[in-house]
Amino acid sequence: MKLIKSIFAIVTLACILLFASCANNQTDDTHGGNNESAHDHTLVEYSARDPECASNGYLHHFKCDECGKAFSDSEAKNDISGREIIYAEGHKVVDNKCEVCGLKAESNLYYRGYKNSAGEFLYSVVSGIGKCTASDIILPTYVSSGGEKIPFERIDAGAFKDVKGVRSIYIPSTVKAINQNAFRGCADLEAVFFEDASLCEAFSSSVFQDCKKLEIVSFGNNSNLKHLGNSVFKGCVRLSFVDFGMQSKLEGISEYCFDSCHTLGSVSIPVGVKTVSSKAFSDCFRIRTLYFSDALTEIGDLAFEGCEALEAINLGHGVIKIGNYAFSGCASLSSVTIPAATKNIGSYAFEKCSDLTITLAKGVSTQNFNPYWNYYNNPVVNKE
Ligand SMILES: [Zn+2]
Ligand SMILES: [Zn+2]
Repeated sequence: MKLIKSIFAIVTLACILLFASCANNQTDDTHGGNNESAHDHTLVEYSARDPECASNGYLHHFKCDECGKAFSDSEAKNDISGREIIYAEGHKVVDNKCEVCGLKAESNLYYRGYKNSAGEFLYSVVSGIGKCTASDIILPTYVSSGGEKIPFERIDAGAFKDVKGVRSIYIPSTVKAINQNAFRGCADLEAVFFEDASLCEAFSSSVFQDCKKLEIVSFGNNSNLKHLGNSVFKGCVRLSFVDFGMQSKLEGISEYCFDSCHTLGSVSIPVGVKTVSSKAFSDCFRIRTLYFSDALTEIGDLAFEGCEALEAINLGHGVIKIGNYAFSGCASLSSVTIPAATKNIGSYAFEKCSDLTITLAKGVSTQNFNPYWNYYNNPVVNKE
């Protein structure tokens, strides 16, 4: 069944709306599946497009509005979801100007300078959108005042909160602090790029929370970021690409970090990550794979709750503690290996994991596990 319904153009993209039935979605889905009940895909055709500094490119593809899947063909036979996007790499900024596209650092934002007791400028911060009307913003490495170059170091709390019309932001390495709610609810923000070797070591909470169009966040290589604030990407329902970069120093995935990031298919976790806090990935119902290194020691309560599509997870060899309801509702997960290091698993950790077989590595003692850790009696295999 295929029927061409209408033809229209969105910006430069030629789009054809058509329906294609998907046999896979007609089957009885006993797990509640990937939150996608049987439906005829509503496909829109996208032409191939090269990426620019701050906007993604695409392969030629057809995308379903309803379920978000992408296909290489109009019959919805070849699923290429996630692979249809060619991600933008950000600007190459030298002396407050991009060498590739020519965009200059934005001067119309509301900047404030901080002085020492001798009246000399020490650094500057951005506190608001000011008179800026640009959609693509490069934050400066320095702000000029009276012939002086004042280093730019901080994004104030709520500086861009609920601002409309900003599509992309480039954050230079000189920024040391990004305060609470800095970009929260930026309705049109799609892409965030950090310069390599970012000096920012920690985020405050909710920095990008509820940026409903945010798709891509690239932290650059050699980033000094160790700590993400709570709820940093919570509710970023279109977030599909998060790149912590090479030589990332990240030590933990914070509470509610990716909560309700409904589009996220996978995240490459830096090797130094030791903790996954409570609800870090809850309701990431499209995430399919997650791999942790041996550095991981603690998984918080409800950390992967509702990750209905999660098919594969590697916990490494170092996990000591797994919290209550940690994997609740991971209906697609068929196997998980509990390493010998694990001393404690909380109650109902594998609730509603109807397909799951739990493998206990040699040497695991369930003695100190919560009595209800495997309340639903998932099959347990002891590795010899
Ligand atoms: Zn669909
Ligand atoms: Zn550029």
